[in-house]
Amino acid sequence: MKKIFEKRDDATILNRMTGERCIIVCFSNIKELFNTYYEILGDDLFSLEYERGYRIGKLRLQKFRTSNDPKKLVDKLLEIYEYMGAFKVIEWNFDPVRLEGKVLIKNSYMAEIFQGLGKTVCHNIAGYLAAIIEGAFKSDVMVKETKCLAQGDDLCVFEIRGRKPVIC
Ligand SMILES: [Zn+2]
Repeated sequence: MKKIFEKRDDATILNRMTGERCIIVCFSNIKELFNTYYEILGDDLFSLEYERGYRIGKLRLQKFRTSNDPKKLVDKLLEIYEYMGAFKVIEWNFDPVRLEGKVLIKNSYMAEIFQGLGKTVCHNIAGYLAAIIEGAFKSDVMVKETKCLAQGDDLCVFEIRGRKPVIC
């Protein structure tokens, strides 16, 4: 098992991969947090979650742009989330010419939180994917989750599509 965190004498904990400070929170605590937000916000929560994921993706892209190879860069940015236990990527692909691709994920933490809700719930991951694909491939894309563990599917599946230009 990899040593993921470094506990320091001042009681702070660092993520060894990213060098960022972390606070370890039990899954039940995260579940309670999102359930509370969902009770208050309803489905608006999921629009916010797409935006939150998108912004996190942009920040991570700035911080960890360690390769000019877009595929390696996306792999690295997905590995960070896997490393922290958020999900496992089964496979992903993106064709920068046709502007389409697909990402298959299992063990999504969001899907586990909202298991049985009967709809797609991993908007945070979709936003994150959109940001890192856009940044790495210099493409304008949208990502939509089409299958989700939370609605009884075997995996969470995300479809990547080019964003259509706005015609005025
Ligand atoms: Zn999902």
